[in-house]
Order: sequence, then C-alpha cells, then structure tokens
Amino acid sequence: MTEREKELILKASPCEVNYFDRNLLTFRQALEKGRELCLNYSACESGGIPCALTCGWEVAQHIVNGSNLKKELNDFSYVPFINNEFWKSVNRRDFERIRGKPDVLSAVEHSARIILREDAFDSSLERCAKCDGVKILEIVYDTIRDGLFPCSGGGKTRRRDVYYCPKCEPKPAGGIIEEDDFGDAFFRKLSKPL
Ligand SMILES: [Zn+2]
Repeated sequence: MTEREKELILKASPCEVNYFDRNLLTFRQALEKGRELCLNYSACESGGIPCALTCGWEVAQHIVNGSNLKKELNDFSYVPFINNEFWKSVNRRDFERIRGKPDVLSAVEHSARIILREDAFDSSLERCAKCDGVKILEIVYDTIRDGLFPCSGGGKTRRRDVYYCPKCEPKPAGGIIEEDDFGDAFFRKLSKPL
C-alpha cells in the first residue's frame, strides 16, 4: 500500500499538486504548499488530448480504493480513446505526445506509480522478452467442433486471453478445437470406424 495518504490521492489532481515531489505525503501538506499548476496546463486544457498523468491518477484512485495495478491497466487498455494521442511526462516539466497502446499503457502505469509513490521503474505489465516493449491483451475465440463427424458441431466458442507484443509477434487469432461433450477419448473411439 502507498505511503501517501489516501485523502491526498483521492482529492488532489496531478494538474494542481506535484506528485513528483516525494516529500509530499498528505493532503494537509498539499494545502500548505498551495497550488502548483502543471506547466502543460494551458496547452492541455485547450487541446483536448488526454494526459497520461491524469489517467494514471484515476488508476491510482482505484488502487487506494482496493484495486490492483494489473487489473486497472487491463481495464484502461479498453477505454474508447486508447488509440488517441496522449500527453506524457516523466517529470511534469517536459511533455511529449505519444500514441499506441503499449506506449500509452506504459506511461499511464509510470504516472500511477509516481502518484502512489511506488518504484516507477517497476512494471505490472506483461513485457516482451525480445524488445522489452509492453505486451497487449487480445481476446481470442476458438471454435469448438463438438459434432460426431469431422467439421461438424454446434458452433460453440471458447474465449482465451492472449498477451502478445505488437512489435515482434503477429496478432493472435482463434483456432479450431476438436472436442465432444463426452470427452476426447470417446470421440476418437466413435469416429474411427466411421
Ligand atoms: Zn517485442
């Protein structure tokens, strides 16, 4: 659990307080310091581009309310604006625009970790062994062939969650599983004489 007071994380936006200051721990301290407006504030307000810092703040708020980073990042990967351009900053001074699920998820996680005062270089995201990029989750549906005859069946599907690296691996696709309601062995026994 974070060393930062829950009240601070629930009430203070990263646009108005500087979570990169590791000495900032409580809501009271933030009130005493006064508003420290983000340097990107005016560009951000007028541009309509989501900011990874504020998205990371939302993630951090769910976490102090009992959720975990892995689940929240997974949920975040389904927001409708995930493929938009985002503002990213690792110091709240210099901002760059990024785009693409892996980079955006990585930036949102970094920001959530800064706000939670956790190790910002650690990661709960699945990483590619080859390029160290963020793997993304793809939901794949396999078709189950559960009929007695080859290529027959009720068209049932089974869902699988597959993490893959969009840079190094092809997008996973569903396949066909041969199976019947009585189990594999029974199916083989019955189908052979046919
Ligand atoms: Zn990779």
